[in-house]
Amino acid sequence: MLKLSGEALMGNQGFGISPEMINNVAGEIKEIVDLGVETGIVVGGGNIFRGIAASSYGMDRTAADHMGMLATVINCLALQGALERMGIQTRVQTALSINKVAEPYILRKAVRHLEKGRVVIFGAGTGNPYFTTDTAAVLRAQEIHAEIFLKATKVDGLYDSDPVKNHDAIFIKKTSYMDVLRKQLEVMDVTAVSLAMDNSLPLVIFNLNVSGNIRNVICGEEIGTLITNTNIHDMMR
Ligand code: UDP
Repeated sequence: MLKLSGEALMGNQGFGISPEMINNVAGEIKEIVDLGVETGIVVGGGNIFRGIAASSYGMDRTAADHMGMLATVINCLALQGALERMGIQTRVQTALSINKVAEPYILRKAVRHLEKGRVVIFGAGTGNPYFTTDTAAVLRAQEIHAEIFLKATKVDGLYDSDPVKNHDAIFIKKTSYMDVLRKQLEVMDVTAVSLAMDNSLPLVIFNLNVSGNIRNVICGEEIGTLITNTNIHDMMR
């Protein structure tokens, strides 16, 4: 399961979808599809609309989140187009039904698509307000029994403090869900991390801007930060 934020499709534009960026991302995804890796993708919508931002100036949060979820569908369709232009078969499934645009999310169908080598792009988050696409991605990962969850970011992984503000920030190669929660490392929201922890879904936080990184992570290279529950017992002693 690959989680792309909306911003990953934005490039340096500040808003919307950069054609160059989306083609780059599609090319990176193609590398793992060509290896035969069954690939599910959840795309965010932050490059277009974030519910919480609109609710901060008075809009009803649920309506704002509906707009955010629709924004993710726009990104899904853009990514689908880019992947299909590269000859990759895809299906978009959405948690909110938009039947003329995409299939509704049906787990069994999604799994069948994956088995047939199609990339399944999951849109509209969980279909519920007050959630994020990170949580949606962890949820879908559990449902399809994904072996690993890759969270693409703009940085190499987790640091003990903000590497932009603090040049002495220490890179964290491996850590536990509990540590991420306890130290409030802002990599994913608490709901997403807790859900991954409850189900021992390994998370890898890595830099999407380094070419070949998706393939390299999948091929077992130690790239980015691995979050698992391996040291949870040490911490409980
Ligand atoms: N959203 C939602 N429910 C979900 C997933 C997303 O309401 O299950 C809305 C929410 O408004 C959010 C927006 O969709 O701000 C875009 O998702 P997100 O912020 O996770 O996108 P990203 O930061 O990954 O680009």
